Amino acid sequence: MKKALVCGAGGFIGGHLVNRLKKEGYWVRGIDLKENEYGNMDADEFILGDLRDPLVVKNAVTEDLDEIYQLAADMGGAGFVFTGENDAAIMHNSALINLNVLEEATHKGISKIFYSSSACMYPEYNQLDPENPKCNEESAYPAAPDSEYGWEKLFSERLYFAYNRNHGINVRVARFHNIFGIQGTWEGGKEKAPAAMCRKVCEAPDGGQIEVWGDGKQTRSFLYVDECVDGIRRLVESDFMGPVNIGSEEMISINDFAKMVIDISGKNISIKNIKGPTGVRGRNSDNQLIREKLDWEPSESLRSGMEKTYAWIAKQVEKKAVKS
Ligand code: NAD
Repeated sequence: MKKALVCGAGGFIGGHLVNRLKKEGYWVRGIDLKENEYGNMDADEFILGDLRDPLVVKNAVTEDLDEIYQLAADMGGAGFVFTGENDAAIMHNSALINLNVLEEATHKGISKIFYSSSACMYPEYNQLDPENPKCNEESAYPAAPDSEYGWEKLFSERLYFAYNRNHGINVRVARFHNIFGIQGTWEGGKEKAPAAMCRKVCEAPDGGQIEVWGDGKQTRSFLYVDECVDGIRRLVESDFMGPVNIGSEEMISINDFAKMVIDISGKNISIKNIKGPTGVRGRNSDNQLIREKLDWEPSESLRSGMEKTYAWIAKQVEKKAVKS
């Protein structure tokens, strides 16, 4: 039986990944600062611990592990990443986690480690035209991410490849593009656009209005979490180290995205565009490399993923209303 450690198992993608690994027959140890709020955690063993602490990492990374999935990071949506208020914490916390986990994994001779980078590391100058963003893997340099979150991801990507070159550890690096789905953060300031949009629409009365940050013409693509986990597993099973995009090529403007959510809700709601942190003007995954190397691309439409996500968030909003 293969043994895996999932760092960030209390989080959104980490929780889904634990369950997937369990379904595949793995023995899984999870570690996180917090338990998974939605019970999405079938791990055989779970450590409540801070990966910034090398001693905690020493205990979590044991020699019997076959694989490590490093997804822990200080992260959130635009309201957390693009205001500038959390820059020092984001860089300090996430860099420390990666430094500690990778060093310990190398020391213990772990055979494979996966790292979750982000599309936020792509240069801003290639993402100024909302209709034509350029995010193929080779376009990463000269580097110019528009957030410190993106710079930390770039630093850590390089760290993983440097350890591979100098210490021989087998690494896999993926750049996720806006992952969404059920059992993720949907309130509190760290939620990302799909969850925030669903929550706003759920909370708005029929005939009401929701606020959308920016002019709404900025574009993005979004990938359902099950597909992301599938991409991770394919990459880890392959001989390809990456870095490679894991995302969807179904690009949509943020206002059209809001209209999609409103349509799913069946309510009559209008959109008010307001000033807010938005990040780059346009971003879309470029899946040419992943198609070529892993023969993979997502199969589910944005609409179908959003229908599931909306239904799940509507339930959370309802539960909260009953409690209060
Ligand atoms: P998440 O915030 O739900 O999960 C991250 C987890 O890391 C959290 O549960 C958090 O408690 C944990 N963590 C943070 N600091 C820690 C520490 N010091 N010790 C132990 N645990 C700690 O985020 P997610 O959406 O599941 O993202 C997972 C990974 O994928 C992150 O590295 C993120 O940067 C990357 N990513 C996500 C997206 C996305 O759209 N969700 C896009 C690009 C990249």
